[in-house]
Amino acid sequence: MLHTVWNLQTVNSIYKKTIRNQESKIMNVLVINCGSSSLKYQLINSDTEEVLAKGLCERIGIDGRLVYQKAGCDKEITEAAMPTHKEAIKMVLDALTNDKTGAIKSLTEVNAIGHRVVHGGEKFASSAVITDEMIAAVEECNELAPLHNPANLIGIRVCAELMPGVPQVGVFDTAFHQTMPAKAYLYGLPIEYYKEYKVRRYGFHGTSHSFVSKRAIDFLGLDKDNSKVIVCHLGNGSSISAVQNGKCVDTTMGLTPLEGVVMGTRSGNIDPAIMEYIAKKENLDLAGIMNVLNKKSGLQGMSGVSSDMRDLQAAADAGNVDAENAIEVLCYGIAKFVGGYVAAMNGVDAIVFTAGIGENAGNVREKVCSYLGYLGITLDEEANGKRGEEIVISTPDSKVKVAVIPTNEELAICRETVALV
Ligand code: AMP
Repeated sequence: MLHTVWNLQTVNSIYKKTIRNQESKIMNVLVINCGSSSLKYQLINSDTEEVLAKGLCERIGIDGRLVYQKAGCDKEITEAAMPTHKEAIKMVLDALTNDKTGAIKSLTEVNAIGHRVVHGGEKFASSAVITDEMIAAVEECNELAPLHNPANLIGIRVCAELMPGVPQVGVFDTAFHQTMPAKAYLYGLPIEYYKEYKVRRYGFHGTSHSFVSKRAIDFLGLDKDNSKVIVCHLGNGSSISAVQNGKCVDTTMGLTPLEGVVMGTRSGNIDPAIMEYIAKKENLDLAGIMNVLNKKSGLQGMSGVSSDMRDLQAAADAGNVDAENAIEVLCYGIAKFVGGYVAAMNGVDAIVFTAGIGENAGNVREKVCSYLGYLGITLDEEANGKRGEEIVISTPDSKVKVAVIPTNEELAICRETVALV
């Protein structure tokens, strides 16, 4: 452990001091999303919700590359050694406080830090202030997300070391889905696997599903306590959620982010027996099979062209049948989940598209909605032709509202952080 993080008492006393010191001060939140060899960051003024600076560190532990962009300025790219996340975060902090190009004068202007944490298991149904106890609880979930959680924790510890006294908050990808009932989260497996190993549906992209469903309720003028919303987060990773009265009641991703619809390189749902069949045919062990399902399947594997929807569309337009089929399988799969969630909630008020594909690919939205005519959905073609903006894409007489709402996970993490500190 690089640095002791505080216990709850210390945290409370720091908060009281911070709040006293900061009455009438602007609150800047540093949002950190730490991966195993990369790190994304944004510095956000929580009052105006303006992004003061953003960027990423790549190739941590390999060679190192910092991308930094102050609001209104061009991107700066610096190649520099980053043997560990500590050097990477130090470089980010140096860039943020640089005399000429920094967004702030000193680190005292960072008032709180919000971290994305991938897996909170059943322990975290909401975001949490980071304390020693909280870290120990997150560590217990590491087995459920061995690639992500340890990296998230490194980011937390390095920030505690480099910015002692600044309150930190963990925002979990899984937390929003903790309201699912047992009938939605239990698998048809021996119950001991749930009781002893916590094998169940957790769901991911929770920060996005929460942000977008809340925004949908406001934007579309729904009554939060009497609302049924389906959120289709369609990006490189994709998941769909059913949100009733503001609470998640079901979602497509499961114990891991492999389950659900076809994704960029992930298979989504398949017959589990395929694994044994292919293992024998291709002489693969379990790790080899998991590698195929996570990295060589999905749109990439089906098309043999690319995991990127733009490349796929171009290939399909040029007559590539495999690319065309990959897009069809994705849209058909989304429509089937949407239908299932309409049944789960006994109705739906709004269907919302978000993330890279959901916000930009009008043809995907159109294809999905073409299966949903039975719900009385009619699409406004002109509105659906727009890209990346918050917009209603159904016609005024459509029985269910359909909308595009851009997601903003960093802003959601910033808001959660401010709410807790
Ligand atoms: P995300 O993971 O949310 O960044 O989304 C990445 C996905 O969004 C990739 O499949 C991209 O091809 C897709 N995407 C981004 N921009 C567009 C666009 N203009 N048209 C179609 N797909 C897009």
